[in-house]
Amino acid sequence: MNRHGRPTAPTGANKAQATDFKTISGHRGLDQDEPLLFEIGRPGHCGVDLPEPDAKIESRLGGLERGEDIGLPGVSEPEVVRHFVRLSRMNYAIDLGIYPLGSCTMKHNPRLNEKVARLPGFADIHPLQPQSTVQGALELMDQLGTWLKTLTGMPDVALSPKAGAHGELCGLMTIRAALEARGEKRTRVLVPESAHGTNPATAAACGYIVDEIPATADGRVDVAAFKAKLDTDVAAIMLTNPNTCGLFERDIIEIADAIHAVGGYFYCDGANFNAIMGRVRPGDLGVDAMHINLHKTFSTPHGGGGPGSGPVTLSEALAPYAPLPYVVSHGGGFALVENQGDAADTAPLGRMVAFHGQMGMYVRALAFMMSHGADGLRQAAEDAVLNANYIMACLEDVMTVSFAGPCMHECLFDDRFLNGSGVTTLDFAKAMIDEGYHPMTMYFPLVVHGAMLIEPTESESKESIDQFVASLRSLATRAKAGETERFIGAPFFAPRARLDETGAARKPILRYTPVVPTAQAAE
Ligand SMILES: *Cc1c(COP(=O)(O)O)cnc(C)c1O
Repeated sequence: MNRHGRPTAPTGANKAQATDFKTISGHRGLDQDEPLLFEIGRPGHCGVDLPEPDAKIESRLGGLERGEDIGLPGVSEPEVVRHFVRLSRMNYAIDLGIYPLGSCTMKHNPRLNEKVARLPGFADIHPLQPQSTVQGALELMDQLGTWLKTLTGMPDVALSPKAGAHGELCGLMTIRAALEARGEKRTRVLVPESAHGTNPATAAACGYIVDEIPATADGRVDVAAFKAKLDTDVAAIMLTNPNTCGLFERDIIEIADAIHAVGGYFYCDGANFNAIMGRVRPGDLGVDAMHINLHKTFSTPHGGGGPGSGPVTLSEALAPYAPLPYVVSHGGGFALVENQGDAADTAPLGRMVAFHGQMGMYVRALAFMMSHGADGLRQAAEDAVLNANYIMACLEDVMTVSFAGPCMHECLFDDRFLNGSGVTTLDFAKAMIDEGYHPMTMYFPLVVHGAMLIEPTESESKESIDQFVASLRSLATRAKAGETERFIGAPFFAPRARLDETGAARKPILRYTPVVPTAQAAE
């Protein structure tokens, strides 16, 4: 690797101290430690000068005036700005480095998309505006829908769901509506054990019993076990393709035919569509409903950077039940069908959202499609797959590949290479933070022990992947050589380490309780 400039890494004696060195300020290098805004604030301080209220004016609040202090932190403008800039520097972002979270598709968000999304005609409109004044926005929704239908080879699309999981809910509700229209009430949904957690959660939320299908030794759906579970009580199978092991389900057509033969529907989790767009049309494989994560495949920001969007493409059989609203084109213009009575020859299941879905994400996704073109989208998928296979090939001699390659857009390792080293998948992932990388997805999928799932996406260059690989190779070699001190307790360079994430999620502290000074408390 070609590096320029003077060395910045600690050397010799320095190096040994670097990890346990504590600063007086709590800062680390140029990253500042930062308390809560409430802890910084002092009563009575304010960023602006406000005039004293005029005592002569009679209050019109009818005795509802606040009696106590409002309790907001008293801080000046520079203090507020610094507070948030300091916090932002503790964060990891796709604009900072490779974000290899498998199954999450953290790809670069092209700035062109951002520019287009900020055009006033898209950014400054209101969902309750008369339709005649937002014809351009409706046309954009119609065009986006057309491309999603073209790419998937499916005849209909519901744009409004606001995330992948929400799209799953939309798909299963559509399936339920279609079954009810046939007068059938089926109770089970089949879900492979490698599925994303949202799949069984969605099926359960829709009132179905989740029936798990085991995986084969090569990481795919066990077709024999699947067929053994099939009967006329099965509403649908929810299958991800490529699956969450990063593998293409070879038997997908056989699976589609079998579920259709018992009158059930094929729900495909399309979150991994970024691996196959332009190469495979899920409609040709027999899929009845599939959500597409615009925030993954079509690069709209996510993970704290923006809202998701999960349109669902639908087969002929399910199209009549698609939720409201939807866009129709008529003699030179566009209209939204918003009411059940207005839907001529269909039986829409109602609404998934208050308005029309994530307009800003529609704009970004269409900008991504149009700037890539059909050939560019196909190349994005091919490059994503190439990058993942390159990483797999570079690491297979030092880490353990779970299923023999080639893989699709993500490569799966397990913890067998750490056997006997005293280092776990968690320790290994935390040591990556010290290397300046966001860890890969760990402990998912559940079908292998101590999973490490890496998805580079097409937007990484060979140079950035080579640097990433060099760090992982070095860590793997050190773990196996027994250098456990580098791993146990890592990260050493992050502002915080080993947080109790489960505790934080289960028992969140959402209210700041001021520490009362002892003198005051004694009174
Ligand atoms: C990301 C993902 C989902 C869920 O999508 P959200 O937008 O996070 O709700 C579902 N399935 C798979 C395979 C995914 O990767």
